[in-house]
Amino acid sequence: MTGAHRASPHVPPMTSILWLRRDLRLADQPALTAAVRAGPVIPVYILDDETPKHRRMGAASRWWLHHSLKSLDADLRKLGSRLILRRGNAADIIPSLVNESRASAVHCIRHYEPWWRNAERALKDKVNLVRHHGNYLMPMGAVTTGGGAPYKIYTPFWRALSRHMPPPVPLPAPAVMPAPDVWPSSDTLDDWGLLPTKPDWASGMSVMWRPGETGAAQRLNDFTDRARLYDEKRNFPSTDGTSFLSPHLHFGEISAAQAWHANSAMGGSVENFLKELAWREYAQNLIVQYPYYGSQNAREKMDALPWRDTRDPAVADDLRAWQRGNTGYPIVDAGMRQLWATGWMHNRVRMITASFLVKHLLIDWRVGEQWFWDTLVDADYASNAVNWQWTAGTGVDSNMFVRIMAPLSQSEKFDAAGYIRRWVPELADLNAPYIHDPGEYGRLPACYPAKIIGHRDARDRALAAYEVLKR
Ligand code: FAD
Repeated sequence: MTGAHRASPHVPPMTSILWLRRDLRLADQPALTAAVRAGPVIPVYILDDETPKHRRMGAASRWWLHHSLKSLDADLRKLGSRLILRRGNAADIIPSLVNESRASAVHCIRHYEPWWRNAERALKDKVNLVRHHGNYLMPMGAVTTGGGAPYKIYTPFWRALSRHMPPPVPLPAPAVMPAPDVWPSSDTLDDWGLLPTKPDWASGMSVMWRPGETGAAQRLNDFTDRARLYDEKRNFPSTDGTSFLSPHLHFGEISAAQAWHANSAMGGSVENFLKELAWREYAQNLIVQYPYYGSQNAREKMDALPWRDTRDPAVADDLRAWQRGNTGYPIVDAGMRQLWATGWMHNRVRMITASFLVKHLLIDWRVGEQWFWDTLVDADYASNAVNWQWTAGTGVDSNMFVRIMAPLSQSEKFDAAGYIRRWVPELADLNAPYIHDPGEYGRLPACYPAKIIGHRDARDRALAAYEVLKR
């Protein structure tokens, strides 16, 4: 199939609204393809801070969104279309747009965050809402056990998912987008104030990222060239071993099926990349089962764990040291500074920094999850919550809390010296092994903090807290 399908001559063309959310692309966009087939299309993005409530997009995501929408509007204009922008509650705005434009249908891709499920439910009673599968390899709920139950554990989930693979071949982008006779009014993107101004903390993000479908395609091509080394390099933060596709996948600038098809034919080490795509599916599958995963322990018994209280000034200082990358643990500080500068952090280092907050500082995982939510450009309700709960030992599938990661040995094992030198310039003159733990070797520079807590003390404190659960 190539490009726009006009409705057949016997069927009068019907104007559709294309409701865009985290699916900001033209290719492999089934809602868009269906709308184009029916007739004129009004592509709409609604900045809805009401529906998600406290889950409104964080600051780094808003930066990404601005650039992604700008890029999408430019791509639409090349096809004779444009993007209509509105701000407010989607469940109110969509019906009023339908009235204004006399649209006969609203096409959208299904989203599974609990607030979007509620909004879709509310809209189904008000408009002709046509929902399409499109952002995941399989529709949520389609991968089940023999008895029809959803999976709770990753490995059997992956086995079952892989039996349904490959996903359908991706749809092409349309060649033109039929336009309505009259366009509804639109907000101006710059008026939404999505970009930081005073101070502009996003300069490092602008260097690293190119939001939008073209940027996503470039990342995918670049990765496909080096995908055969994925397995060998992906755990080493000093090398660019992973795909960097996460924000593009989160905002739907590329579909999971496109990422799958571009790489799966290579075999070998690429299997592990496909398994990571499946982690994304698995996380979303858990959110459908446990909509409050972002705020409630999946293991209820963990509710009694005595976290340190962040209202206590000493705990607040520890939290600030973690957020700013001043803990005295080079690998932790490098990760937290990479996050602040670029809106992204290497997966291995996400595990180390998250574990450090939860176990070394004994601060509730939800505090860290919120920080990541605000600072990650790929902040994703499902992936963030599931990985934080996994690290904290509170998730359905996690290791026990008492398995405590040692950040300093992780730093050595995964050869993080180059990574630390890059993000912690105070340590740039140190080589391995000193750079992993400068205090231990008597090489702590005056400008770099000593450890805020020793590894053994932290471990003992965490284990003592866990003992409380047994009482
Ligand atoms: P690659 O290694 O190239 O993997 C390809 C894709 O697979 C990724 O783009 C991502 O979509 C998916 N993926 C990989 N690992 C995971 C995983 N563990 N869980 C779910 N999906 C995965 N990922 C997010 O997209 N958003 C988040 O908010 C997020 N928060 C996290 C919080 C913590 C505490 C941890 C430990 C991990 C988190 N991750 C999150 C998962 C993972 O760190 C990132 O997806 C990965 O680092 C993105 O880099 P990449 O695109 O180069 O990944």
